[in-house]
Amino acid sequence: MQRLGQGLLLLVLGCLPVPCRGQETPNFVVIFADDLGFGDLAAYGNRHIRTPNLDRMAREGIRLTSFYAQNVCGPSRAALLTGSYPIRVGEPGNAKNAHTVLHPDERTIAEVLKPQGYVGGLIGKWHLAGGGGHERGRGTGPYNPDLMPNSQGFEYFFGTPSHNGTTREVQPGGWKTELMRNEEVLESPTDLDLLTRRYTQEAVAFLERNRDRPFFLYLAHTMPHVPLGVSPMFKGRSVRGLYGDVVEELDWSVGEVLGTLVRLGLDDRTLVVFTSDNGPWIEGHLGDHGGSAEPLRGFKMSTWEGGLRVPGIFRWPGRIAPGQTSDQIASTLDLLPTFAALAGAGLPADRPIDGLDLGPWLLGDSARSPRQRFYYFAFTHLQAVRDGRWKLVLERPENPPWTSWYGRMIDAVTAPQLYDLELDWGESRNVAAQNDDVVARLMRLAESVRAEIGDFDRIGSDARFFDTGAVRPRMGAWRK
Ligand code: MG
Repeated sequence: MQRLGQGLLLLVLGCLPVPCRGQETPNFVVIFADDLGFGDLAAYGNRHIRTPNLDRMAREGIRLTSFYAQNVCGPSRAALLTGSYPIRVGEPGNAKNAHTVLHPDERTIAEVLKPQGYVGGLIGKWHLAGGGGHERGRGTGPYNPDLMPNSQGFEYFFGTPSHNGTTREVQPGGWKTELMRNEEVLESPTDLDLLTRRYTQEAVAFLERNRDRPFFLYLAHTMPHVPLGVSPMFKGRSVRGLYGDVVEELDWSVGEVLGTLVRLGLDDRTLVVFTSDNGPWIEGHLGDHGGSAEPLRGFKMSTWEGGLRVPGIFRWPGRIAPGQTSDQIASTLDLLPTFAALAGAGLPADRPIDGLDLGPWLLGDSARSPRQRFYYFAFTHLQAVRDGRWKLVLERPENPPWTSWYGRMIDAVTAPQLYDLELDWGESRNVAAQNDDVVARLMRLAESVRAEIGDFDRIGSDARFFDTGAVRPRMGAWRK
């Protein structure tokens, strides 16, 4: 009788707008690698690094080949968590930092899902609170607690507050990251060799603790960002050297997470996404400790495709049809509105966001991704726009001074270039001269992006500034 009563109640309420556990409300797991390139997984053509768990995940879901993050770590995390291009994300004091500092008034995925009863957990790298050694070159924190994960919607945090370094080897006297649990520093410095294994153990424990309530697990690995670290079990196994060892341990970690979901009976109630924050870091001093963007052009910090087109694998047994590959456009920007729609959560009503709901497309109710366009920013500099198959690369000088330290990886473009990304993933044939009309159309698109979202020398009409006082300064005045 009691069960019948509950059934009637569910029928009357229809489980809407508040989804019910045990109905259709999924859990969300985002596994976010750091500096893993488009060409680093066997499922994306790598012939040297063994990634059987990710390959299986791709076979059991959809493998995207035009999936975009951003071109550098901090902004990429801000984009994923807010569904917004980093240039429009609000920062304390209305500033704009090379690594985005997330204003407390920004709404993260964890905060958007919380009213629906979701618990948010961040296992891994945060890098949205500034501070730390990166800016000062050495030392640890302190970090403003208002900017840390526990104040940005995550009930549980275990990981590194910032990045782990900028050199091939751990520098004896240089920056070393600490390891934290919530607001407590557990170790300083932490042992990079153990991070992937410890994150995995923490992720499994988080899933076990929260098996009976909806959750959003953001598993943001610190690897394979330099300096690399790998546990003894994986050291020396890969023909690709230490970098390969590190990626193979990440693959093992994915297998542990997916296996835990099966063991807990949550496999068909959990949407798992695997991707990377930006392309591979390929620079002389790092040697073979950087990854591969093949067959794409470019690397981390650039806005050629290899800088921000990354692996994107979505898996949800019973809901996303297995065995799919798609070259349609999607982005980490889209995760927030996609998860919100699936969870029945409302989007922030007081601000425009850039993300689009991928749900109908991923679940097979629509043949087309809602995303037809993507805009390529280096820091605040709009460098290219994509609309469907066409990518227009805008003029720019070499090493633009307003692109902060990203600029050293940015080459000159002396006249607009047009690439057909359906036929030419490697951006090797500039077809601007043969397509005047397309160039003109995309130039107009770029101008509308500048007006609404902004550029290095311009504040967009939709940029967000939460604090009173002056907004970010113009970073330069170059415009041919
Ligand atoms: Mg990165």
